Amino acid sequence: MSTTIALAGNPNSGKTTLFNALTGARQHVGNYPGVTVERKEGFYVENGLRFKVIDLPGMYSLTAYSLEEVVARNFLVQEKPAVIVNILDASNLERNLYLTVQFMELGIPVCIALNMIDAAQKRGIQIDADKLAGLMGVPVVATVARSGQGTAELMQATGRMIETGEPKAPLVISYGEDIDEALAEMEQEISALAVDSEFPARWLALKFLENDEQILEMCKTADPALSVKLEKIKERLARHIAGTMDTCTEAVIADHRYGYIKALVRQGVVSHHQDQDRLFISDRIDRVVTNRFAGPLIMIAVIMGLYHFTFTYSGLPVAWLEGLFGWLGGLTEAALPDGLLKSLIVSGVIDGAGGVLGFTPIIMFMFFGIAILEDSGYLARVAFMLDRVFRSFGLHGSSVMPFIISGGIAGGCVVPGVMATRTIKSPRERLATLLTAPFMNCGAKLPVFALLVGAFFAENEARVMLLITLIAWSGALLSAKLLRSTVIRGESTPFVMELPPYRLPTFRGLLIHTWERTWQYVKKAGTIILAISIVLWALMTFPGLPDSQLEAFEQQRESLHAAAVDAVEAELLLIDAKEAEAALRHSIAGRIGTAMERVSYLAGFDWRTNIALVGGFAAKEVVVSTLGTAYSLGEVDPEQTGSLSATLASDPNWNPVVAFALIVFTIFYAPCFVAVVCIAREAGSWKWGAFSIIFNTVIAFGLAVLVYQLGSSGIFGA
Ligand code: GDP
Ligand code: MG
Repeated sequence: MSTTIALAGNPNSGKTTLFNALTGARQHVGNYPGVTVERKEGFYVENGLRFKVIDLPGMYSLTAYSLEEVVARNFLVQEKPAVIVNILDASNLERNLYLTVQFMELGIPVCIALNMIDAAQKRGIQIDADKLAGLMGVPVVATVARSGQGTAELMQATGRMIETGEPKAPLVISYGEDIDEALAEMEQEISALAVDSEFPARWLALKFLENDEQILEMCKTADPALSVKLEKIKERLARHIAGTMDTCTEAVIADHRYGYIKALVRQGVVSHHQDQDRLFISDRIDRVVTNRFAGPLIMIAVIMGLYHFTFTYSGLPVAWLEGLFGWLGGLTEAALPDGLLKSLIVSGVIDGAGGVLGFTPIIMFMFFGIAILEDSGYLARVAFMLDRVFRSFGLHGSSVMPFIISGGIAGGCVVPGVMATRTIKSPRERLATLLTAPFMNCGAKLPVFALLVGAFFAENEARVMLLITLIAWSGALLSAKLLRSTVIRGESTPFVMELPPYRLPTFRGLLIHTWERTWQYVKKAGTIILAISIVLWALMTFPGLPDSQLEAFEQQRESLHAAAVDAVEAELLLIDAKEAEAALRHSIAGRIGTAMERVSYLAGFDWRTNIALVGGFAAKEVVVSTLGTAYSLGEVDPEQTGSLSATLASDPNWNPVVAFALIVFTIFYAPCFVAVVCIAREAGSWKWGAFSIIFNTVIAFGLAVLVYQLGSSGIFGA
C-alpha cells in the first residue's frame, strides 16, 4: 500500500517539473498558465518512502471558478490525499500563499515546497523558510524542481507528517466583524443539520458567501430549507456590506485573506536585496517585446526567423531521406516481380508513407524552434499581445493558447488544442474557440504545405509560410466573429492574462520536447498513415481494367514492333503511362475522384487531388501520401526518379495557382476525424462535430474557388 500525496499550486509554479523529478516520468512541461488540465499520477519510491503522487491542475483559489479548479478541488475533497504538497513560486510568495491559506482553512495537511528559490534569489529576494514554517505551523522546504534540489528533503518532511499524522484543526482567519458574525451564525445552522461531513462547517459557510456555485448547488439539493436560511443570512450581510463599505462580500473576504498573508510575510519572512539594475530583467525585456508598436513587429520577425531557420537547415536531411526512399523504391522495383505485391510495396508503402516520413526533418526543426519559444516564455507574450485582438473577435484572452497549441505558429495538433479550451471559463467563447482552432496549421498540414511550397514557391519559402499562417489566423478570427454574432451570440466575460518571467531554456528540455513531438509524428506515419495509405492504394488499384481494355493496350504495343527501334522505346513508355492512368481512373477511388471533378474543377482540383482530399479527412498527412501513391500508380514518365514535388512541378495540370488553392483548402477544410471526435466530446454534442465538418468544408471550398478563379483570371499578373 502506498500513501497518496497531491501536488497542488498555482499554474506555472513548477508542479509538473517537480512531479517529473519525483516520479521520473517524462512529461510535457510548458511555460504558460493552464497547460495541465488532466490528472497525472506516478510513484515516488526512495529512502524507504513510497508515495502515489498526483499532479493536480493549476489553481489560484479553492473557490471553484474554472473547470481546472473544480477538478482539483473535487479530487482534494473526495479522494482526501494524506498530504497536499503545496508548490509555491518563491518569487511570488504572497500571491501563491493565497491558495495555501485556503488549503489550511479546509483543514487538509499541507507541506510547502518553496519552489524556484533560484529564480527568487536571482531577483534579489531572500526568504526565511524556517520562519515561514514556524509562523504557519507547517513544514516548508526550499526546492529547485528543475535541478531536483531539495526534493528528497521535501519528501522526507512529507513522510514525517504522515507518520506523526495527528489531524490538524482548520485554520481560522478573521474576516472582520460583520462576516465573522454571519459565518458563526451559518456555521451553527450547518452543524445542527450536519449536511455534509466532508467539509468543515465554517469552510462551507465561507464558500457559500464566496458564491461558490458547486457548494450553493450542493446545499440546495442536500437540504433546501437550510439553503434558504443560509441564503437569507448571505443577503442580509451583502446588503450591510454594500451599505457600509460600498463593495461586495467576496471582495472583503479576499482583502482579509491577503491582509492575513501580508501580515505573515512582513514578520521577517521575506527580505529584498534591492539591486535596481538587475531587478526584474523580465519586466525590462517585456517593455520592448510587448510594446504596442515594436511588439507585433518583433513577433513577426521571430516567426519569420523560425520559418527561415526551419527551411534553411532542413533542406539537406530532407534530400537525404528522399534519396533513401528513392533508393528503397528502386531496390524493390528491381527485386520483386511485377504484380500486386510489388505495386503495394512501391506505391502503397514506400511512396505513400515514405512521402510523409520524408518531411520528418522539417517537422523536427520546426518543433525545435517552437520549443525554444515555448520554454523561454516568449509564447506567453505572443498570447498576451494577441489578447486584445482576440476580444474584438468575440473570443477570449485564454483562446490564444488553444490556438497556438493547435498550430497557431506551425506544427501543433488540434486534439490537445481542443482540450486546452477547458481553461476558458465562458462557455460561448469556449465553443467559438473549439470550432475555430482547427483552422490553425497543425503538424499534419505542414507536409502538405512543405510539398506544395517546395514545388511551386521554392524561392520564397519563409514568406509563403508566413502568408499561410496569416491566412489561417484571419480565417479563424473572422469565422469566430461570424459564429459569435450568429449561432453563439452572447456577452463576453472579463479576464486577466499574466506573464510568467522569462527563463533560459535548458538544452535537455528542448531536446526532449523536440523528440517527443517528432516521435509522435513518426509513429503516426508508421501506423495510422501507413494503414490509410494501404487502404487508399487498394481503392486506387481495384477493380483493375477489364480484359478488353488490357487487350487493346497490348495490341497497341504489338503494332509498334514494325516501327523504328528508337521510336519504339518512347512509344512503349507512353502506352504504359496511358494504361496506368486508365487503370487508376477505373479504380473505385478514381471513380469517386472523377465524379467530384464536376464541382472541384471550380477550384482547379483534378480527380487525383480529390482522392487525396477525401483521404485527408482521416488524417491531413494522407493528402501527401495519397498524391504520392496516385502519381506513382499513374506515373507519367516511369524513368523519372524525381520526388513527388518534382513530379507535381512538371505536371501540366499543376501550377502555382492550383497549388495555392489547394493550400487554402487544406487550411480550412473539415478537421481530421480524431479532431472531430474530440470537438464533439468537448462541446458535449455530436451536433457540433457535424457542424465543424460542414462549416469548415464550405468555407474552405468557397475560398479555394475564390483563389483559383482570381488567380487564373490573371489579375495578379503571372
Ligand atoms: P506547472 O504549471 O505548475 O506544472 O509548472 P511547470 O512544471 O510546467 O513549470 C513551469 C516552468 O517553470 C517551466 O519552464 C519549468 O522549467 C520552470 N521551473 C520549474 N521549477 C523551477 C525551478 O525550481 N527553478 C526555475 N528557475 N525554474 C523552474
Ligand atoms: Mg503542469
